[in-house]
Amino acid sequence: MTKPFKKIAVVGTGTLGAQIAMLASNAGYRVIIFDQQAGAFDAMMEKLDADIRTKQIEPFIPFDRWPACRQRIKQIEDLPEAVKDAELVIEAVPENLELKCEVFRRLGQLTPPETILATNSSSIPVSHLEKSSARPERCLNLHFYMPLHGMNMADVMGGTRTLPEVVEKGISWVRSLGCIPLTVKKELLGFCFNRVWRAVKREVLYMWANDFVDFRDVDRAWMKFTGREDRYGPFGLMDSVGLDVIYDIEMVYYRNSKDPKDHPPEALKQKIDKGELGVKTGKGFYSYPDPEYLRDDFLSTKE
Ligand code: NAD
Repeated sequence: MTKPFKKIAVVGTGTLGAQIAMLASNAGYRVIIFDQQAGAFDAMMEKLDADIRTKQIEPFIPFDRWPACRQRIKQIEDLPEAVKDAELVIEAVPENLELKCEVFRRLGQLTPPETILATNSSSIPVSHLEKSSARPERCLNLHFYMPLHGMNMADVMGGTRTLPEVVEKGISWVRSLGCIPLTVKKELLGFCFNRVWRAVKREVLYMWANDFVDFRDVDRAWMKFTGREDRYGPFGLMDSVGLDVIYDIEMVYYRNSKDPKDHPPEALKQKIDKGELGVKTGKGFYSYPDPEYLRDDFLSTKE
């Protein structure tokens, strides 16, 4: 597999940054990480380990390879030192436009001019960040899903002036990590698969909030349709992500389109106000830790 870079840096090693660093280390890259909180990477790896084991998911990188991958990842607690000779820097700091602009501004100052700067943002097109870096032709979106959980794919999208060879390098890097690149040919809010998932969310929330169907039946149908009877449907997945996070993401689309049909339903807001945020609070659409959809009789045809 071609490796388009020798050395990469990950800035922000929470839920996604930690997984990206592991993927890159697993693929043989020299990986430097920087997080403003010194212990963030190790704390996150512990959480991911526990989460994947609880859900009994086969991790993309087998557990026995984790220690070796972690050992090859070098943590540097000084941003200028961490990124000074990286050929690609990917940021995965929280989803906040001002914060990401500031990170891009600093990366533009601290890295060699040929370094490619990528954002893992779930919703911000790189065109909103590129100017801050002062090198728009070398900026792109590289949006990973939850790779260690088995969703080994990433959206790749350029900004207003991204050079074609930069997009190509992004695609080639994603492939070299063992992930499927989902190329977005021109700027699109939500990228490739996020947008598909979003259309599903919007529709099923509408059906539930207007009492057309029981949300469990939607999940049952989805599990049959996808052949994933061991997992969950859209409502179970929204519980895992967090209903507050789902609401905020829907609001990003609504603010962008101003179309009332894009506004998340009031019933979802009411659940959030009651503290029903999903897995993290023990109740969302389902109750945890023993949600109905994992029970043997969930897909039973008996009365
Ligand atoms: P997170 O809160 O788990 O992690 C963010 C990390 O960034 C934390 O460790 C924090 O200490 C660090 N950080 C904050 N400010 C920093 C700074 N100035 N410099 C360096 N580090 C800093 O967040 P996350 O869920 O990993 O999300 C990160 C990005 O990835 C967001 O843009 C999000 O939209 C995107 N994303 C998240 C998911 C998901 O399911 N969580 C999926 C795809 C993409």
